Amino acid sequence: MKWNVWGHPLKETEQFFQEGGFPRFRAKQLHDYLYKRYVYDFAQMTQFPAAMRDWLSENAVIEKPEVVRQQHSSNGDTIKLLLRLSDGSLIETVCMKHDYGNSICVSTQVGCAMGCIFCASTRKGMERNLTPGEMLAQIYAFRMLYQIPVHSIVLMGSGEPLQNYENVLQFMHLCHAPDGLNLSYRGMTLSTCGIAPAIYQLADEKIPITLAISLHAPNDEIRNRILPSSRKYPIQTLIDAARHYFNVTGRRVTFEYILIKGINAERTHAEELCRLVGDMSCHFNLIPINGTEHIQLYPPDHQAIERFSQILEKHGKSVTVRRQMGDEIQAACGQLKRRYLKDNS
Ligand code: SF4
Repeated sequence: MKWNVWGHPLKETEQFFQEGGFPRFRAKQLHDYLYKRYVYDFAQMTQFPAAMRDWLSENAVIEKPEVVRQQHSSNGDTIKLLLRLSDGSLIETVCMKHDYGNSICVSTQVGCAMGCIFCASTRKGMERNLTPGEMLAQIYAFRMLYQIPVHSIVLMGSGEPLQNYENVLQFMHLCHAPDGLNLSYRGMTLSTCGIAPAIYQLADEKIPITLAISLHAPNDEIRNRILPSSRKYPIQTLIDAARHYFNVTGRRVTFEYILIKGINAERTHAEELCRLVGDMSCHFNLIPINGTEHIQLYPPDHQAIERFSQILEKHGKSVTVRRQMGDEIQAACGQLKRRYLKDNS
C-alpha cells in the first residue's frame, strides 16, 4: 500500500525516506514542496533526482481532500468550503476575516455525537475521526485557493475535538511546526462540550492554547436540554476542570454561551451563571443563536442580549458578544453539507 505523504511530522517523513534508502534531508525538501510551494505532483519535484521521483510515484501518494463547494458572504468576511475526503465523506471548514487577521474554523470529526439541539452536524451522529492530515488540509485549502495568510485557528467545526484527542494534538503540533504553518499555540483555540477527564489531560500537555468550553447554561437542567451529551459530566465537574486548566496553564478559559430566547437568556440565568463560576478568571463569549431552516430556536432581542452581557460585566467578568458572521452562506456548523446533500440527492 502506498504511503500518503500528506500531514505527517517531519520525523515520520524522514523515517520514510531513510527506509527507502534516501537521506533524511530529502524529507525537509518534500515538506517545502507540500507546505510552502504547493507542488502536489512528484514529477514536478525537480529538486529530486529522477530515480527518487520514480520511487516516490511507486511508493507514495499525495492524498488531500477535494473542494466541492465554495460560498462567500456578500461582504466578503466569511468563506465556507465543503470538502470531500478520500472515502467520500463530506466536511466543512470556514475562514473568518477579522480586523486582527484570518481565522480558520476546523472540523475534527465527520459528523458529531454530542447532540447539541442547535447543530446540523449532529443529525446523523459521529461517523469517524479525522486524521491530522485531513484537519491540516482544511487550512491549506484556503491558502491555496485564495492565498490567505492564517493568523489563528479555532477547532469549532463539526466534531468534538477531545473525542479525537491524539489526532487533534498531532494536528496542533503540525500547525506549530516551523516547517509547516509556524503558528503560535496561543493562536489556537480548542472548543469542547466538556469532556472533563480530557481537559485534565490537555492541561498536562502544557501547550498554551486557549480552551473554550461550550457551557450554554447556568445549571444542569438547562444544559441537559441544550446539550444532551452533557449528562455524563455535571456542570460543577466541568467548572472544576476549567479551574484546574487555568491553574496549570495560566491560560484564562473562555466559556461559549449560545443565547436562546425563552431557554437560557433571562436576567436570572445571567445571575446564576455568575454564582456558578464565582471568582474564576474567565471570559464569556455570548453568541446569539444563528437562526436556521431546520430548528425553531431564536435569539433574544437586542435589549435582552445587552442586559445579559451587562450583568456578567457587573460581576467583573470579561464579555464579548460574537457578531453573527456568514448567516447567508449557511456558516453555522453542518448547514452547507446539508444543503449540498439535498441538492445532490
Ligand atoms: S455544536 Fe459542535 S459539539 Fe455540538 S453537536 Fe455540533 S459539532 Fe458537535
